[in-house]
Amino acid sequence: MRIVGLTGGISSGKSTVSNLFKAHGIPIVDADLVARDVVEKGTGGWKKVVSAFGEDILLPNGDIDRQKLGRIVFSVPGKRKLLNQLLAPYISFGIFWKIVKLWMKGYKVIVLDIPLLFEAKMDRWTKPTIVVWVDPETQLQRLIARDGQSEDDARNRINAQMALDLKRDKADIVIDNTGSLDDLNERFQEVLTEVTKPLSWIEFLFSRQGALSTLVIFTVGAITCRKFYNNGV
Ligand code: ADP
Repeated sequence: MRIVGLTGGISSGKSTVSNLFKAHGIPIVDADLVARDVVEKGTGGWKKVVSAFGEDILLPNGDIDRQKLGRIVFSVPGKRKLLNQLLAPYISFGIFWKIVKLWMKGYKVIVLDIPLLFEAKMDRWTKPTIVVWVDPETQLQRLIARDGQSEDDARNRINAQMALDLKRDKADIVIDNTGSLDDLNERFQEVLTEVTKPLSWIEFLFSRQGALSTLVIFTVGAITCRKFYNNGV
């Protein structure tokens, strides 16, 4: 199985590229969706968050008030790190479980869409790793246009992240999304060809088909050896 990593900076176009993969039938494991699932009411993640941040962060129906929690973690020093530490094991397991389910379905190529791929060191598990890069001015303008924020707020959000140039340096494949959507589509076709090329032997062994073939070969080998052994004795 080939596990492709997809990341970028805020408003660099990661979701746009993720949607292109989806449209071409490649399954996506979306870390943001997993992060949402792990704080669903009554789950282990929900309990951890409530015990650390108090029942004040709950809505009347018991769901976590995301906006309130967001305000706390971005304004009180240390709280963001605490939240990340509390939820990291649940998110990692959630991602792992989604990969297992896709593996069982027999997918050969999947994409992990993870904003903090490098920060969480999850790029250890992905090959190739794709970074959607954009020049800083275009990134700022797209963020302002998408989220309707002031220029200062948009700059602060960009500056709070790992520098996009640093992510670009760590990438196996860079998608430069500074141009138009047509340019992006054109580059995407090249990347799609690259990520869907035939699996290497190692990738094949880690695919469901590879694991089953290995199992069949070992079973047939063991039965044959036993027959020879029994005939010889
Ligand atoms: P991210 O997921 O990285 O935060 P998005 O995919 O949401 O970024 O893209 C940010 C914004 O820029 C969105 O409004 C999207 O429609 C727009 N966008 C993305 N790529 C392009 C492009 N090549 N040309 C014009 N707009 C784009």
